Amino acid sequence: AAKSAGKGQMVTYSVELDAERQVVATLTEEMRSGLINDEFEVFYQGIFNSRTQTYSGVEALLRWTRRPAGALSPSVFIPVAEQSGLIHELGLFVLRRAISDWVDYPDVYVSVNISPSQFSDFAFETNVLSILEQMDFPAERLELEVTEGYLIDRPERAKAAIETFQSAGVRMVLDDFGTGFTSIAYLQAYGFNKIKLDKSLIDDLVTSKKSAVLVQGVMFLANGLAMEITAEGVETEGQAKLLELAGCRLMQGYLYSKPAPAAEMKAQLSQTPSAAKTGTG
Ligand code: C2E
Ligand code: MG
Ligand code: MG
Ligand code: MG
Repeated sequence: AAKSAGKGQMVTYSVELDAERQVVATLTEEMRSGLINDEFEVFYQGIFNSRTQTYSGVEALLRWTRRPAGALSPSVFIPVAEQSGLIHELGLFVLRRAISDWVDYPDVYVSVNISPSQFSDFAFETNVLSILEQMDFPAERLELEVTEGYLIDRPERAKAAIETFQSAGVRMVLDDFGTGFTSIAYLQAYGFNKIKLDKSLIDDLVTSKKSAVLVQGVMFLANGLAMEITAEGVETEGQAKLLELAGCRLMQGYLYSKPAPAAEMKAQLSQTPSAAKTGTG
């Protein structure tokens, strides 16, 4: 359509589009063969409960080491997979891998990131629930993390999917809270169980009075509405102290744990005192 307009600007735009399309096509082909050739791994980052002093859960984070080019960040290749549609296959790969890595380790819940576009597949909920059943993984041990884009693009679809997962026992989590415009009351009305405070809010928690007040306000509201909060990207003791004072229990960040392969993460969990006795809390 841009080409047929025939204006210089439009043609440039169209050339750029073609180039982008080419990059998407090439990377998608590489991802497709990467899936076959076992280039994808799932790492896990512990989610620490400051009240029980144990890890309550782990977040699955996809890793891709392209051969021969080397590692590429998920913030680069996930958007490409979304554009090409490969995200459907890639997303279910992560889910299956995460479940098989943790099915025999009942002490933690497993949190998996879901792209908004995965919900464009109307079989998505059925697929997830039947994977849980096939692999004998309790729905109560699974959390699905979605971002606000998911609510904004297709609110009706979002509501239906949340309801399906909720009634099956899967917990729904809003990721990257604080980067968009959604209010906590709105999220609660949608049926989310938990929100994750974005790293950008945590970053200047100690240096900025404003950030501290904001986080305290969020914590106050969330506690009042019986929603759980996880703080993301906690890197310093100072941040952890302020978060605990504000009533935040669930902490995720390099201060506690860095993303690592399942075996390493399990070794770290088993070194945490009494981790085996607290359940999924
Ligand atoms: P996210 O879901 O918000 O994940 C948190 C990101 O912050 C991860 O980056 C994690 O490694 C990083 N992080 C955690 N703690 C700290 C910290 O203390 N300091 C710093 N600097 N960073 C920290 P990662 O693994 O690069 O993933 C980036 C994003 O890619 C994720 O953000 C998520 O949106 C997406 N992603 C990763 N895996 C998947 C997946 O399997 N499916 C989908 N759809 N998206 C994924
Ligand atoms: Mg996440
Ligand atoms: Mg996040
Ligand atoms: Mg993110």
